[in-house]
Amino acid sequence: MKILVLNAGSSSLKYALYETSPDAVASDSDQLLGEGLVERVTTMPEALKTAFADLTPLLRGEKITGVGHRVVHGATFPGSIVIDAGVEAAIDKLSELAPLHNPRSLAAYRAALAHVPDAIHVAVFDTAFHQTLPRHAYAYAIPPEYLAGKKIRRYGFHGISHRSVALRFAKLQRKSPEELRIVSCHLGNGCSVCAVDRGHSIDTSMGFTPLEGLVMGARSGDMDASALLHLIVREGEDPAALLRMLNNASGIQAISGVSNDMRDVLSAAASGNDRAGFAVDAFCYRAKKFIGAYLAAMNGADALIFTAGIGEHSAPIRAGICAGLDQLGIAVDPVLNAAASRASRCIGNSRIAVWVVPTEEQLMIARDTVGCIAASLGKL
Ligand code: ADP
Repeated sequence: MKILVLNAGSSSLKYALYETSPDAVASDSDQLLGEGLVERVTTMPEALKTAFADLTPLLRGEKITGVGHRVVHGATFPGSIVIDAGVEAAIDKLSELAPLHNPRSLAAYRAALAHVPDAIHVAVFDTAFHQTLPRHAYAYAIPPEYLAGKKIRRYGFHGISHRSVALRFAKLQRKSPEELRIVSCHLGNGCSVCAVDRGHSIDTSMGFTPLEGLVMGARSGDMDASALLHLIVREGEDPAALLRMLNNASGIQAISGVSNDMRDVLSAAASGNDRAGFAVDAFCYRAKKFIGAYLAAMNGADALIFTAGIGEHSAPIRAGICAGLDQLGIAVDPVLNAAASRASRCIGNSRIAVWVVPTEEQLMIARDTVGCIAASLGKL
């Protein structure tokens, strides 16, 4: 069956078309027929028109059976789900918690529904994988009424990616995910680390929103909440402007004064720009701290995995993060680390193996969509 995957970002729409089935998923033989990206999206119906114009010839007259939609915030949805009126309303309601993300996914869903009304539309959430976090990991240490009434807790994000690399790594090791403890580092524009204990996320660095945790391209990561309240109460700063600052004008961009793009920051650092060097050090140090925390949370690990733009492509950042972790059983091999390859590969044969595993978020969304379709047909 043909499955369309839609991933609506803050200003872009990524799309992919797969030929797959429950059997293809089981045998890892799904086929990517085509993919693309619409940048600087003004309206979602326009962006989808472009995507369909690109993909329609690849369908060869066949229909699209399912559409998998990446939805950033699914709060407590424990897994992917067929979108009906109730699910649509729930995603809409969650826009309160994810104003930068969920409205885009909903707009993509509504526009896609107009193109393929007969397809089964499935929501695949970035939060769902982290619904296995134990209470002591997801709760902020504040009075319970904030959690119950106001839904203030850690949700975690990048779950589709962390799940994808954990499953891929287990497959490469010919092991079941239940046999492995993995620390997964998704380092892209957004960055997060996840402790995957025997197939389940037990902790992750992003929290109530994707702002918490690591130093990112333009996001600050962890910060003392009282510093922000100080800026609001004592300095008269505007809360909405502060939120924009923390999400869009912080991270390596703010520290380096160069760019939110790690390539630019690395090359500035290499040519002696002191602030760029400081940004690289801050980025690596924060990631290292979280890796240490998750090794403690799982009493060790079998593998440390790097994925996403920076994780897959930047040998110096991987080396910087792993430097000085040999006493914890982590060491990167400089030759393996520097090898140019797009494949999953081991870059350190230390006690805790170090790997690069390309993230397969779109494939994961296509597979979940197939799974939901099979389950919903089974129910009929
Ligand atoms: P997104 O989170 O938007 O999907 P990506 O996973 O594509 O982002 O990651 C984007 C980041 O990856 C950018 O900071 C970019 O500079 C970085 N990146 C891509 N290639 C390299 C590279 N060769 N070296 C260092 N950083 C890289």
